[in-house]
Amino acid sequence: MIATYHNHSTWSDGKDSVATLVDWAADHDVDEIGVSDHLVLRPDGTLPKWSLEPARVGDYIADVLAQRRADGPTVRLGLEVDWYPGHADLIRDGLDGLPLDYVLGSVHEIGPFVLDGSPASWDKLDAAGQDEMHRRYWIHMRSLAESGLFDIAAHIDLNKKFGHRPTIDLSAEIDAALDAIAAAGVIVELNTAGWHKPCGDAYPSIGLLEACCRRGIGVTLSADAHQSGHLLRDFDRGAARLADAGFTRLARFAGRQVTYDRIEQCIPEHESHE
Ligand SMILES: [Zn+2]
Ligand SMILES: [Zn+2]
Repeated sequence: MIATYHNHSTWSDGKDSVATLVDWAADHDVDEIGVSDHLVLRPDGTLPKWSLEPARVGDYIADVLAQRRADGPTVRLGLEVDWYPGHADLIRDGLDGLPLDYVLGSVHEIGPFVLDGSPASWDKLDAAGQDEMHRRYWIHMRSLAESGLFDIAAHIDLNKKFGHRPTIDLSAEIDAALDAIAAAGVIVELNTAGWHKPCGDAYPSIGLLEACCRRGIGVTLSADAHQSGHLLRDFDRGAARLADAGFTRLARFAGRQVTYDRIEQCIPEHESHE
């Protein structure tokens, strides 16, 4: 049972259409493919270029659902939605009534600061400023979980993307975030895209994964693919890391309900390295 949930199409910042993603999945023995384009509902109403237009969510959903074919993989409908503390109602209203299988919650922005846009924005901060951004990141992650809006917390240590590491002890903030994720029943993901970023490490680090596993938090395995050839990128390596961290099961989603498969059933025989 090979399932992958965190993937982007041309509806947001991906390179391939939903149809192309599903065709590739069908050709590579993927049993279940989820599409999770970005929907960014900023409190100030502006729209980044990497987001699906809110007015076109209905068209996006129709396109994803149209790829459900009798002889193809199971197609799941998702969204990757940014979390802005204090604005749960805005996000709840934006998602209300949508026939989603799962919602990924992400922190890409802290106020006007875009965490994962370019290393230059981090480099402009001094060490204390960077430390404060890391600290605020984990406080955002905690409230993301507490909001009750999200099924999966995406790339939970995205703040390391460009290799900037905190110089202060943030274990209290991190523990609080992970405790909130566990208490809310939110799932995390092993996101293999980080292996291809300057940090050179999947999201999250092995230490964080072990901390999630100890808390009984569930996990999915995804490549955060922005093109079809990346749908299963590093899945063998990711599955090995999950096993190292102590996980024996992977979460699956349908209609915002979670079930589990044993991890060894979820590793592809033929993996793409494109
Ligand atoms: Zn993301
Ligand atoms: Zn993503």
